[in-house]
Amino acid sequence: MLPGRPPRALIVARVQAIEISLDWRWPPVLALGTWLLAQNVLPARFPSWELGTTWLTAAAAVLAGEVALLLHELSHALIARSHGQHVTRIVFHGFQAQTVIEETPSAPLCEVLTALAGPTINLLLAGLAGVIRFAFLVQGPLDAFLLMLTVGNAAAAVLSLLPFGSADGARALAALRRHCRLEGEIACERQDDDDQNQQAQRRPAVVAPSAGAAKAAAQQGE
Ligand SMILES: [Zn+2]
Repeated sequence: MLPGRPPRALIVARVQAIEISLDWRWPPVLALGTWLLAQNVLPARFPSWELGTTWLTAAAAVLAGEVALLLHELSHALIARSHGQHVTRIVFHGFQAQTVIEETPSAPLCEVLTALAGPTINLLLAGLAGVIRFAFLVQGPLDAFLLMLTVGNAAAAVLSLLPFGSADGARALAALRRHCRLEGEIACERQDDDDQNQQAQRRPAVVAPSAGAAKAAAQQGE
């Protein structure tokens, strides 16, 4: 998730008025990822598989990864929009994507929720794939597919939550710090107000005897 200017990309769909775009790097990155899985990773682990099964499993895993990436970015977009921010588009670069949000002031806690929505979706998908794998005791290519989905989504969640650069974790942490700073300032202002109120309440207690004394003096004078 990143704010900023919309990059040049090909619009392929719209989801709730949010443009879904593909950067020029998307097709070669996906082709390379599928090729690496089908030619190196899967044959090394499952040498007895037929070529068609290997390529189909590789392509399915890469496409499922893109669907998970879309759900990750859509969760950022929809949470940001529900808090009044204007989301223009989601751009896919390959195994990375960018949600373009117009820079508008928002409450820090809304930014925390927006940033954490993406990794939460990845954790849910990893958990779902893991539960299906164990509940149905699947085997063969489907088991490998679900395992890649579990590991891939868990890794995506961990990488997103890193507190570095423009990662979701760094954005959530920065917004949380801002929230704590604002809370501290509000608490200080409240304390100042309370102090002023207490001082204001003490003043009449000092003035009253004087007024009484002045009245008594006036009566004596009469
Ligand atoms: Zn994200």
